[in-house]
Amino acid sequence: MLFGSQRVLDKVILITGAASGMGASHVRILTSQGAMVVVADIDERAGKALCEEVGEDRSLFVALDVTDYKGWEAAIDATVRRFGKLDVLINNAGIFSSGSVETASLADWDKTLAIDLTGTFYGMKAAIPELRKNPTSSIINISSIAGVTGFKNRAVYSAAKWGIQGLTKTSALDFGFEKIRVNSIHPGSVETPLTADLDRGLGQVPLGRAAQVEEVSHLVVYLASDESTFTTGASFVIDGGETAGNNLRD
Ligand code: NAD
Repeated sequence: MLFGSQRVLDKVILITGAASGMGASHVRILTSQGAMVVVADIDERAGKALCEEVGEDRSLFVALDVTDYKGWEAAIDATVRRFGKLDVLINNAGIFSSGSVETASLADWDKTLAIDLTGTFYGMKAAIPELRKNPTSSIINISSIAGVTGFKNRAVYSAAKWGIQGLTKTSALDFGFEKIRVNSIHPGSVETPLTADLDRGLGQVPLGRAAQVEEVSHLVVYLASDESTFTTGASFVIDGGETAGNNLRD
């Protein structure tokens, strides 16, 4: 349940990986709260369908592979041409990968780091020149609880998601004087296509279930809005208590 109805009125928000899962939920809720949204994804069919659903007057699909820096420059350009500015960047695109340091392949390392971590770095680098033009800009980087704790059998994914936390905190220091806020979100288990096939071990979650996508979107709305103008350099865990401590013993 959201309080108030136009919490991000006329904010221009670019979201990567926006065609599916949590990203698509952010698009739906942010547009319902008054934002204009750029849906950036490699999945053109799903991205365009989502823009139709939320209204093409409030949204724009941009084909973007986050590992392509020239693509990033074109996406920022298209955003400013269409909506005149960029207020918020949400680096959400990500892939999952399993394995220990021993069992993960070199190809897994290269691909996961490229999308999850380099994609986030590229996005921030490409967006900051536009973001600094606004008095209240926000970068929201989607990490994971694998970016605040160790995560068994997810060595590569965890390294990428910890890297996002480092980029976030350091950039909060580097760009605070320009009023660009930079925060990270660390979801636990969330019901999306990414996790559909995983055994999620929900027994360790004190709330006993996975999150619905909207439960993460509500935090995204706060960080995108001017309600969070004193919030930067923070890591928001949203995991039903999964990382609060040892939940295995009575
Ligand atoms: P999802 O698989 O439902 O959606 C990911 C989207 O990213 C897809 O639309 C896909 O087309 C897009 N994408 C993939 N590679 C891309 C690329 N190179 N360039 C641009 N777009 C690309 O995923 P989700 O579960 O909604 O996850 C979103 C984010 O949240 C990811 O960063 C993920 O690591 C993180 N996360 C998810 C969970 C979970 O339980 N689902 C938990 C913690 C963190």
